[in-house]
Formats: sequence, C-alpha cells, structure tokens
Amino acid sequence: MFFKTIDFSKYSSIKVGQPIEILMLEKGDTIPKDRYLIGGANNLLISPNPPPLMMLSKDFANIEQDNDMLIIGSAMPTGRIVSYAKKHNISGFEFCSKLPGTLGGMLAMNAGVKSYEIFNILDSVAIEGKWVAKKDIKHGYRFAKLGGIVTAAKFRIVKGFDKVLLDELLSLRSNQPHDPSAGSAFKNPEGDYAGRLIESVGLKGYRKGDMAWSEVHSNFLINMGNGTFDDAKYLIDLAKQKVFEVFDIELKEEIKIL
Ligand SMILES: Cc1cc2nc3c(=O)[nH]c(=O)nc-3n(C[C@H](O)[C@H](O)[C@H](O)COP(=O)(O)OP(=O)(O)OC[C@H]3O[C@@H](n4cnc5c(N)ncnc54)[C@H](O)[C@@H]3O)c2cc1C
Repeated sequence: MFFKTIDFSKYSSIKVGQPIEILMLEKGDTIPKDRYLIGGANNLLISPNPPPLMMLSKDFANIEQDNDMLIIGSAMPTGRIVSYAKKHNISGFEFCSKLPGTLGGMLAMNAGVKSYEIFNILDSVAIEGKWVAKKDIKHGYRFAKLGGIVTAAKFRIVKGFDKVLLDELLSLRSNQPHDPSAGSAFKNPEGDYAGRLIESVGLKGYRKGDMAWSEVHSNFLINMGNGTFDDAKYLIDLAKQKVFEVFDIELKEEIKIL
C-alpha cells in the first residue's frame, strides 16, 4: 500500500473538495477497517472533514476471460469495460457506456440506466477474498448490501455486443446537463421522479453560490464554477425540506455525502 494525494476539486465528477491523502491498496494488502473506500468519485460529495479514505490501485483494474466467465477487477473504469465487450463481441455491458465510474462503484450503487442494472448481469463478487453469489447479496434500486470491499466480479459471457442499444443509450445521455455533477442527487421515490418533485417545488434552476439545481434536469446538482460543499449541502437540504412540506415525500440521497 502507498499514499497518494488526490485533489477532489479536480478528481470528483462534481468538482467539489480539496486535496486529500488517500491510502492506495495493492494486491495482497490487508484491507483496513477504519477507512472508507472510494472508486471514481462520480457519485460522491466530499465535505471539508471526510473520513479517512482508501482506493483500489491499478492492481485491481484487470479484465480476463476464464472459460465462459468474464472476471473484472473492481478498479476497472466502466468505459474500458464497454470497449472490451465491444472488441470481444460480448453483450450486456452496453448500458455502462456514459455511466462514469469503476466497476466497484457500479456494484455498490447497483448502477443502471432504464431497466438495465449491473446486478441483472452479475454472477458473483469477490468480497475481501471470498466469492459470493449474486443471490446471497441483498440488492435493489440503486443499492446493494455488499458487506465489504469488492475486489472483483464475475459475469457469464453472452455473445453479441448490441451496437444499436449502445447508440440508443448514448443518445439518451445527450440531453443531460454538461456541467460537472454527480449524476442524480436523489433516488426516484416509488412511482415518481425526484426531478419532477424538485421542479414542482420551484427549485429547477435554483442557485446558491456556484451550485444549482440544473435547468436541464432538476435532479442534477451542478457546479457552475467554484461550487462549495456548503452550497451543495444547502441545496440538498432545501430540496428535501420543500418536497416533504409539499408532497409529504422523503427524498433519499443517491449521492454519497462524506
Ligand atoms: C454525469 C453523470 C451521470 C450519471 N448517470 C448515472 C445513471 O444514469 N445511473 C446510475 O446508476 N448512476 C449514474 N451516475 C452515478 C455514477 O456513475 C455511478 O454511481 C457509478 O457507479 C459510481 O462509480 P464510482 O466508481 O465513481 O463510485 P464512487 O462515486 O467513488 O463511490 C460510490 C459508492 O461505491 C462504493 N464503492 C466504490 N468501489 C467499491 C468497491 N470496490 N467495493 C465496495 N464499495 C465500493 C463507495 O464506497 C461509495 O459508497 C452518474 C454520474 C454522473 C457524474
């Protein structure tokens, strides 16, 4: 293991944060219990006082085929997974295109687009050295109870990369905000959309400092320049409070606040 300083105002997708010393884990290291693991920081909002952090080094960014199984290391970026699937004519990973992050982050969030979710195609995960079958992991809409650090995952290989589906999903993405964000700030409550609720309480486009609820997609908290953690947190709390007052619905954060 070794330490690396990462500037979250550059590294995180929402471009909020400060330089932080991160413990980088290498193959064979014992995983510390007192540190929070991050992936690509595409779903994170870092406070001025985050817990001690760690990250999987490039030792965990591998991908290999073993008979009919694809084994992918958790630090593997989603873009590289899609390129690999395309090159080897493997189906199932098309939805990961334009879904920024690492495999580990996708698994922890059960990330997905429309009806496509990573758990749909998952076979098993290696949690701190032990393989655990998907059926033994509680999971649902944007959550998975992994119970530890996932170092790799297995997927059964199904042939036939779907270029038409890929293009369809990419065009879906073209109407998302281009400003830095962490994707959707809140999970959609059952039977409704967080974006619709935020818009209904008059917060679409609402700005505090350089942070704002996007004009393009109300559930995206965007950074318009030098957005701060305090402004982001203010807007998150304001949306929760207003939506609760008007609709009696408790919005739940999808974004992880550290
Ligand atoms: C522009 C934009 C669009 C987005 N659109 C979508 C979308 O359509 N659908 C969607 O689902 N998400 C979307 N997201 C959110 C993001 O892409 C996903 O949540 C992604 O899976 C995060 O991966 P990450 O590696 O960046 O994880 P991080 O943000 O670094 O971490 C997220 C969580 O994963 C945990 N984690 C990371 N690695 C591991 C591991 N190896 N083992 C255990 N836990 C781990 C962390 O502890 C943390 O709790 C979007 C984000 C952006 C910026």
